[in-house]
Amino acid sequence: MLTNNVKGTHDIIGEESNGFAYIENLLRQICELFAYNEVRPPVIEHSELFVRGVGDGSDIVRKEMYTFKDKADRSITLRPEFTAGIMRMIVQNKLLATNELPYKVYYNGPVFRYERPQLGRYRQFNQFGVEAVGNNSPEIDVEVITLAYTILSSLNLANVKVLINTLGDDDSRNAYKDALKGYFAKHLDHMCPDCHSRFELNPLRILDCKVPEDQEIVKDAPKMKDYLSDAAKSRFAKVLELLDALDIPYEVDDTLVRGLDYYAETVFEFHYTSKTGNDYGAIGAGGHYDKLVKELGGPDAAGVGFSFGVERLYSVLKDDDLFPHCINTPVEVYIMPLGEKAKVMAAQVASELRLSAYRTDVCFEDVKLGNMFKRAERKGAKVAVIIGEDEVAKEEVVIKNLATTEQKSCPLDKLIETISEEIGNEVCE
Ligand code: AMP
Repeated sequence: MLTNNVKGTHDIIGEESNGFAYIENLLRQICELFAYNEVRPPVIEHSELFVRGVGDGSDIVRKEMYTFKDKADRSITLRPEFTAGIMRMIVQNKLLATNELPYKVYYNGPVFRYERPQLGRYRQFNQFGVEAVGNNSPEIDVEVITLAYTILSSLNLANVKVLINTLGDDDSRNAYKDALKGYFAKHLDHMCPDCHSRFELNPLRILDCKVPEDQEIVKDAPKMKDYLSDAAKSRFAKVLELLDALDIPYEVDDTLVRGLDYYAETVFEFHYTSKTGNDYGAIGAGGHYDKLVKELGGPDAAGVGFSFGVERLYSVLKDDDLFPHCINTPVEVYIMPLGEKAKVMAAQVASELRLSAYRTDVCFEDVKLGNMFKRAERKGAKVAVIIGEDEVAKEEVVIKNLATTEQKSCPLDKLIETISEEIGNEVCE
């Protein structure tokens, strides 16, 4: 017990940790290119926020939240997603009144859902996403989709499928919900208990049911597109027109409804199948919402956002061998001091190299030179800097290029110049 992690959690170590850092850095850079700023809301919120925000008809709120009473008997929940917390932050800090609109932010951090753990499905996992709040236009929906698509392209994920749909405006959704109720009322006796409560709370959720017998019934259910108002149709047409103008490929999927209650109008998912044929399903998803800010006591403001599962991104990049080699080779220069005096000089040389941005490690263990070379190789070093008694006396080092095996002496004041000649100063991104 003491040495086992909690079911559904996982330790991110070594290569996986390097992979996460690579993904998160790249995502950050792209968000900044689109003029989004980072926010860091707390991990815990009042439970009521998610009940109101995510919706009591959603599986997340009904079954998956980590909720507990704190010592003052308040009901607290570990965030199961970011959007509701960010809207709370926006309302509480009046950020829509004090910033240019849309207010554009990105986030990155752990979320918690009590789901059945399986491959690629955890109870604690990491989400990276964005929200753009305070502008209701189709252009902003498309900007957010473009941002997500740019991220996936920059990660070299070629086989991404963008699925898109519209849930329409209130009128469209109410008409559609009535039609669904009429249809499912006839079949409810043969459907799972969850669908019975979905029927009462939000019949749209039934379309997401994973029970195979229910899916058969869902197949013949009325389709959203037949209930769209003219305004909703023309808004969606505008979204698709903009995507065409930006050469972003997509497929309209009229079964896509998303599992959170706050969505309206545009919804989308990014699906991925690896080169080896593994179907990862949705690696990211999002959509437009227009009631959430108001529901939480803020102004009448619409927003749009998406969220990627970082674990899923890691798995597809790993599966398709898309990580740059250098992220797993932490060391460029390996310093090998031979003797106590050499260790002092090694520490000084290491500081100088690190100040010049060379990833540098020193072997302070008293092992034989041959062993030091093996260590350098294992760490992926490009250059070894060897310092013996002679070198200390002459204030120089021996530099060995580990690719060509050529070596030469180098005075200390020419160190950086010589290292740069050997390996350049390529940045690993
Ligand atoms: P959602 O907030 O449900 O739309 O999820 C957004 C993304 O988070 C999904 O596309 C997945 O990539 C990821 N995700 C959702 N649930 C899990 C989970 N239990 N474990 C790992 N990743 C998840």
